[in-house]
Amino acid sequence: HPLTIGVTGGIGSGKTAVTDWFASQGIDVIDADVISRTIIKKGSALLASIRAEFGDWVLTAQGEYDRAAMRAHIVANPHAIARLNALTHPAIRDEIMAQLAASTSVYRILSVPLLVEGMAKSPNLAELCDRILVVNVSRQTQIERASRRDGQSVQAICAIIDKQATPQERLAVADDVVDNEGSLAQLYAALQPLHERYLALAKARLG
Ligand code: ATP
Repeated sequence: HPLTIGVTGGIGSGKTAVTDWFASQGIDVIDADVISRTIIKKGSALLASIRAEFGDWVLTAQGEYDRAAMRAHIVANPHAIARLNALTHPAIRDEIMAQLAASTSVYRILSVPLLVEGMAKSPNLAELCDRILVVNVSRQTQIERASRRDGQSVQAICAIIDKQATPQERLAVADDVVDNEGSLAQLYAALQPLHERYLALAKARLG
């Protein structure tokens, strides 16, 4: 298969900024976060199976997935998350596999927010990656950028950061690291040599 670069990083680290830049260079980006939202759209097979498993309350009056209702259900019934994941995870993996099979660029990017957290679990999406690129920022920058973007409180962002992998855990599995403390222009300048390296690796692989 063509060279696959896994991109990961914590909340607000800049994964989307990174993958948008690769996309601007003509590289196909397969984004697990985008897929997890799109496969559960109104009328989807996945949404029908979630309704069959949990009940009609998973749908809003408009027939869309009621995320808030599911969140409240999981808070009250923590074991429900395993039942939900048993339905969503295989569907996400299937769609990732389909998009990887359809990708045509010299190499491709697979962006997975919880790539490191998922390495001890199934499906382990890191197995689909030849290299892992970690987007690295300080906790302070994560809090500033994520709260500015989402309008969430500092406490809410910190609670998410504390549930995610630590920077040490991410760096331990990284083949490449890009620092995103500076401006977007600095980020793009740091991505250019990585892109050239990936192009060379992809060509070497083709022989
Ligand atoms: P999440 O996992 O939380 O969805 P992410 O890792 O995809 O986040 P982005 O959405 O790319 O992160 O970046 C978070 C926010 O910070 C966005 O509003 C983005 O525009 C902004 N941002 C990213 N990189 C920089 C930068 N170098 N300078 C200034 N703002 C940035």
